[in-house]
Amino acid sequence: MKISQGNLTTLDTCPRLFQHTVLEQLAVPQRGEEWEKMQLGSQFHQLMQQRSQQLPIAAIAATDPDLKRWLEAVEAQSADLFPNADEAWTDSEHIRTMDWRGHTIVGVYDYVVLRSDSAQILDWKTYGKPVDSRRLAQSWQSRLYPFLLAKSSDYSPDTIEMRYWFFQGGDDDQPQMLRFQSSAAAIAETTAALTQRLMTLDLWLKAYELIGESFPQTEIRQTCATCSFAVRCDRVKRSLGESEGMQLETAWDSIEEIPLTQLP
Ligand code: SF4
Repeated sequence: MKISQGNLTTLDTCPRLFQHTVLEQLAVPQRGEEWEKMQLGSQFHQLMQQRSQQLPIAAIAATDPDLKRWLEAVEAQSADLFPNADEAWTDSEHIRTMDWRGHTIVGVYDYVVLRSDSAQILDWKTYGKPVDSRRLAQSWQSRLYPFLLAKSSDYSPDTIEMRYWFFQGGDDDQPQMLRFQSSAAAIAETTAALTQRLMTLDLWLKAYELIGESFPQTEIRQTCATCSFAVRCDRVKRSLGESEGMQLETAWDSIEEIPLTQLP
């Protein structure tokens, strides 16, 4: 089956949630505010795709103050983001796939800048920079995207960099960027983690398909407190009662953070 970074994240969050949303395709309702944010984010991604293709976007950007501000920040870095064709090859909504242990690993990159000696994978986030950068570094997106590129190109791992742009919440309303450099060790860790997840997934899939056994539910009941399937999973009462006193993982930042205004 097709496996994306989102699928892997869901699988880690709760295998039963993977069953409901990926296998059974049950819809997760979006609240009004979330839906509006998603729409704006989607619009911004489309505009960035048009911008990378040299298509006009000013008129559309002018319809929303957030879009306008974000695109102005992008334009301030246009030399780095949109190099000449003889300097780098760029692509929006760049898709990479790779067969791995009977599955197809899929990555849809917001934007790539591929130079002869280095590769940047860029991701646009139309929300604020997370407090815990380490969690982002360990996310499946941060691990899988460099892994896919390293495995499907001639780039050595230490020439691949993941760059997240966060367009909300920075000083003076300026976007901020987090950069994660890949390495041979990181790719090896991702290879091992991915192999382990897919082996486990295969076991669960087999039991689900052959004897109708449901995927396991998460043991972290706090997760259920905000899950749309809490009633279906009979996790409503316990999730409310047991979520009290639970603490989220301690945050700490160890990843290089570079405000865009300080970029060369
Ligand atoms: S309610 Fe809990 S167990 Fe059920 S899918 Fe959601 S997170 Fe998983």
